[in-house]
Amino acid sequence: MSINQAAWEQTELLELNRAAGIHPVELSDESLQVLQTGITIGELTNGAFDVSIAPLVLLWMVTGSSPMVPAPEAIKEAQALIDFRKIEISGNQVYLPEPGMGIDLGGIAKGYAAGEAARILRQAGVNHAILDFGGDVVTVGTRPDGNPWRIGLQDPAQRRGSLMGIVQAEDISIVTSGVYERYFEQDGQIFHHIIDTETGYPTDNSLLSVTVVSKDPVVGDALSTGAFVMGLREGYELLEELDDVEGVFIDDQNRVYLTSGLQANFRLLGSDYVLSCTEDIGDCADEE
Ligand code: AMP
Ligand code: MG
Repeated sequence: MSINQAAWEQTELLELNRAAGIHPVELSDESLQVLQTGITIGELTNGAFDVSIAPLVLLWMVTGSSPMVPAPEAIKEAQALIDFRKIEISGNQVYLPEPGMGIDLGGIAKGYAAGEAARILRQAGVNHAILDFGGDVVTVGTRPDGNPWRIGLQDPAQRRGSLMGIVQAEDISIVTSGVYERYFEQDGQIFHHIIDTETGYPTDNSLLSVTVVSKDPVVGDALSTGAFVMGLREGYELLEELDDVEGVFIDDQNRVYLTSGLQANFRLLGSDYVLSCTEDIGDCADEE
């Protein structure tokens, strides 16, 4: 799991996962809150984002030392254990009712860490800051000169640090889920770390990345992973529907789709990508 995960998660979640099918485990308020946000986003994304993804994540071990494509039967078995709706919560007691079930907050933990860091800075009286947690960016206030912060978006086809666009915003969180973040190659094929709960395999739907721009980095982190798994059509629809949530979708044909609230605050860099639209997705005003 990610190095950004806080200590509470290392211990409490491991204990919870070990106790699956045996007994409930008492979680701290912080863990419970992140878990519950994860469950809410699970409902919003209709299970595309699922905090109980651990059995599949462990099986694929994309970040392990010698990752391999698992056997189809093993994938089926792991898949059968995944269903966030089965998680039982009573107060701070959490129970995973089936042996082998497990929680993985890898898709949401970085957002939590970024949000906590911003909260601590604000509490300490800091009025202007930009925090970059490796692709997950949180800003506090405006720039010191009063202008909004300008946040660069990673070009999913280029090495880390190459930007394809800029978002301008204040007091905002900008979280990206992309195929380039963690993956391995087998027989010339890329296997990345964002798992499609419906197939049990890395999500394969023409998207290269989804960026979510929102107030709450925890929600933004879960939604970026969830919208990525949902795909362009459904993912876009969901982000468009939610208040105070915007998104940037990039597909493997170099097309960029912006939700409507972002169109005034986004600028493309370079000429590799085109702002696109199809039916009710994206903005084609520039082409008219
Ligand atoms: P992110 O980079 O925020 O999109 O998170 C990816 C991480 O979330 C993976 O490394 C897994 O730990 C976890 N994950 C993968 N697929 C899913 C999924 N469908 N739902 C929830 N978490 C997932
Ligand atoms: Mg995420």
